[in-house]
Amino acid sequence: MTQLPAADWLHSPGLARVVTALKTAQGPPRLVGGAVRDSLLGLSVTDIDLATPILPDQVISRLEAAQIKAVPTGIDHGTVTAVASGETFEITTLRRDVSTDGRRATVAFSEDWREDAARRDFTLNALYADPVTGEVFDYFGGLNDLKTRHLRFIGNAADRIDEDHLRILRYFRFLARFGGGKVNSEALVACADGAPKMMALSRERIASELMKIMDLTDPGQAVRLMAENGIFQAFLPEFIGQGPQILKRLIEREQRHSLRASSTSRLLCLLPADVQIADKIAMRLKLSNRMRKDMAALIGGRSICADNIRAFAFHNGLESARDAALLFTGDSDLPAALSQLADWKIPEFPVKGGDIIAKGLTAGPVVAQTIKEIRDSWIAHGFPAGATLGAIVDQYVAAALLASKKE
Ligand code: ATP
Ligand code: MG
Repeated sequence: MTQLPAADWLHSPGLARVVTALKTAQGPPRLVGGAVRDSLLGLSVTDIDLATPILPDQVISRLEAAQIKAVPTGIDHGTVTAVASGETFEITTLRRDVSTDGRRATVAFSEDWREDAARRDFTLNALYADPVTGEVFDYFGGLNDLKTRHLRFIGNAADRIDEDHLRILRYFRFLARFGGGKVNSEALVACADGAPKMMALSRERIASELMKIMDLTDPGQAVRLMAENGIFQAFLPEFIGQGPQILKRLIEREQRHSLRASSTSRLLCLLPADVQIADKIAMRLKLSNRMRKDMAALIGGRSICADNIRAFAFHNGLESARDAALLFTGDSDLPAALSQLADWKIPEFPVKGGDIIAKGLTAGPVVAQTIKEIRDSWIAHGFPAGATLGAIVDQYVAAALLASKKE
């Protein structure tokens, strides 16, 4: 019998309360999916999913009776989020898919653990564990696949992809995380065959999986395989052929400097450095405004180098500057560019409108204009203070006074 290794999170007060609230004569709810898989691999566990044969409305009433907050986050699919002692748990009633159309499933609730396991994607994602005894339940050989690092669909890969095309992206994501470099050719062919139908998925689901791939420690190999199998074509036709190579270079640079570029930077490696194209993609994939702005800022850093990186950082933030350096500087310039940012704090522009009014300028639009000129010059001169800044201020105030006299 396989047991979950001992871990603090298994003894948290929140988990104990939820388990007690959902215990039946047949036993407690079971941990499932990522928490079981990651804990068997000795990785840290953050998200905890539980499965239970109790029907969703009963889950809610039992949790509430135990003074646990219950939120019906995905009630159509039987998912309730419990918030107990400050911890969050996703609790899903056992289910089977009644019908699927490649995008979403109609589900029926079930009392059969094996049936619930069968509708999951990969064998190593379909492991369950008793949160009290730690006993692991494996219906499809997931434990062995975990040991041999074999990412395998439950059942026939093509059929499982037909049910839900998002599983194509999930395949590459989990392959990069747990696949140990081995690729199952049947799964790969099924992914390539199913890819053209991916656009029927909700854009948010595509974007979320895509960004999870970009956020992996090293998505390089997964991205290369995706490119070779035409996976990007369906939702990212702008994908450039050199993309995987550019991404590989970025990741090597990250590793060399012990840095981690944002998932947005990684995505940009795969696309033309063009703000209009980035905007079009952001619209298509319904990316957040934040991400859209980050993409535009990074693309604006195309000609970044050690000499202008602080100015770029002043306008776009340190993180964006660091990422732009990793993306766009030449090899010989990168260390110098990064050292410009190390131990450097973005200074605050110290000159206020009142300061230059005190020097004789009349309040009004000219003040704002002059302040802007002083600021630009201050940035261009490397953010000086003291006499150097004073000289810049005097120069622009004098020019503004002269111009206003002429008018
Ligand atoms: P992560 O660490 O990335 O959160 P996870 O395994 O918890 O990994 P989730 O996306 O949170 O992944 O999904 C939880 C579980 O739900 C999975 O382990 C899997 O059993 C099941 N699952 C999620 N999405 C699908 C899907 N599209 N098709 C089939 N099963 C799925
Ligand atoms: Mg999860």
